[in-house]
Amino acid sequence: MIKAGENINANPIRVSHADLQRYGETESVFKKFCPVCLKGAVMVYRDQKSMMLQNVDRCTYCGQTIIYSDRYIGGEPVLHIEKDPS
Ligand SMILES: [Zn+2]
Repeated sequence: MIKAGENINANPIRVSHADLQRYGETESVFKKFCPVCLKGAVMVYRDQKSMMLQNVDRCTYCGQTIIYSDRYIGGEPVLHIEKDPS
């Protein structure tokens, strides 16, 4: 069982937001289950200046840093503040 904040210093993982499981049908399309702890949520952050979606996110429970490879999420373009090396 993963504890709260356990992955705060773990290496970032690269995933596609589109592949993650939706948190709930009544929840925002951005809100998905964390692929690492399967308990916390990822919400997709927005850049505070441009209000664009950012590709770097963090689980609300385990603290895992997640980097999205998606160019669009929920039909909106994603600002790649950290590049996917692949
Ligand atoms: Zn998590």
